[in-house]
Amino acid sequence: MRLFGTNGVRGKIGADFTPPFLVKLGMAIGSYLPKKSKVAVGSDTRISGDLVKNAVISGLLSTGVDVIDISVAPTPAIQYYTKNHADFGIAITASHNPPEFNGVKCIDSDGTELSRDKECAIESIFFSEKFRTVPWNDVGTVNYDDALEEYVNAIISKVDANLIKSKKYTVALDCANGAACYTTPYLLSKLGVRVISLNCQPDGTFPGHESEPKPENLRDLMALVRDCDADLGIAHDGDADRAIFIDENGRFLYGDKTLALVAREIVKERKGIVVTPVSSSLAVEEVVKAQGGKVIYTPVGAPIVARKMIEINAVFGGEENGGLIFPEHQYCRDGGMSVAKILEIMAKTGKTLSELIDSLPVYYQTKISVPCDNSIKEIVLENIRRALENENISTMDGVKVMGEDWWVLIRPSGTEPIYRIYAEAKNEDTLREKVEKYKKILEKIIQQLS
Ligand code: MG
Repeated sequence: MRLFGTNGVRGKIGADFTPPFLVKLGMAIGSYLPKKSKVAVGSDTRISGDLVKNAVISGLLSTGVDVIDISVAPTPAIQYYTKNHADFGIAITASHNPPEFNGVKCIDSDGTELSRDKECAIESIFFSEKFRTVPWNDVGTVNYDDALEEYVNAIISKVDANLIKSKKYTVALDCANGAACYTTPYLLSKLGVRVISLNCQPDGTFPGHESEPKPENLRDLMALVRDCDADLGIAHDGDADRAIFIDENGRFLYGDKTLALVAREIVKERKGIVVTPVSSSLAVEEVVKAQGGKVIYTPVGAPIVARKMIEINAVFGGEENGGLIFPEHQYCRDGGMSVAKILEIMAKTGKTLSELIDSLPVYYQTKISVPCDNSIKEIVLENIRRALENENISTMDGVKVMGEDWWVLIRPSGTEPIYRIYAEAKNEDTLREKVEKYKKILEKIIQQLS
């Protein structure tokens, strides 16, 4: 049985997330940690934040660990605080999920998301109910601290703040009523940026729009950028580990574009290795190679990217969803740091965001799904591997078939009864042709095994 998904434990308030469940989860985490450990706990702006946080804290205290409550903060700020001041961290957040959901995400002492084997250790305590109990005079206590100022100052120290200030940029900012409300407006104003804010009042009902920064949720922001003649627009997801950008013409920029842009500029300065999942655009590899760097691929998942970056001392890493990882700051996705870095790139090059983005290579992408019963997913994957073994494939995560200027990734969904086909190519005809070809192969295999 599994408790942790790809982003910690997620659940709906009143359904999966009940007080007894959350107290038990806190007890399992606390029992996994040595007695007297210091655990930093913070949350995003969800209405259920206090309920979830206090239930988890109660469970933790019962096992004899101490808690530092850092109140509402972006997930990367909780991670930064944990790395510097605690033995473990917990972010109470469901990132971009609807408001009735919440989540519990565990953070290791170095600020990275907890690895799968450590999550398994917590799961096994949870399901076996082998909780540590301590006598009344050994139960933990709660202290309170602020994580925000140190986090914002740390970001500013990693970029050329004076150069950014000298440009006097105007930014239209949409915090999605989430945790970024507490940091990004202040970060920008400290960087001398004029901020025009939208949905920057914390509100766990998410009155502005859903907290996923996708085009249909950012119509107001795109219009605001145009109406106010802003230099760019910035949007965060609910817990601000990601940032999505709008150029000065009000054009939505997909995360793979900013990933490629930042990769190119960092490798231009420092050479080295960039780490990204197998699902990322070839544009990243193309620009990194052109600057004398190298790309290393990993299975999908930000914690996997972060761990690989530590292992090989990479200069940069990230995902195509706007989650960028800057090793000089910390080994996790960081929306605030992404904002500062994009401004620094604009300031250093003297170019507008649209000029920078339009200088990147263009690739065409598509994503489709094919129904497949959960029970046969594994065997289907084995059969795809066998069917394609004579092609140039990678089996790091699903099966990725790679050509000269195209690739197709066939991957079972972790949550739904479907297979996903992701594909990318330099021209649209190749893209259509390849997707058709591999979709047929996949469908035939599923049909034979059903
Ligand atoms: Mg997030």
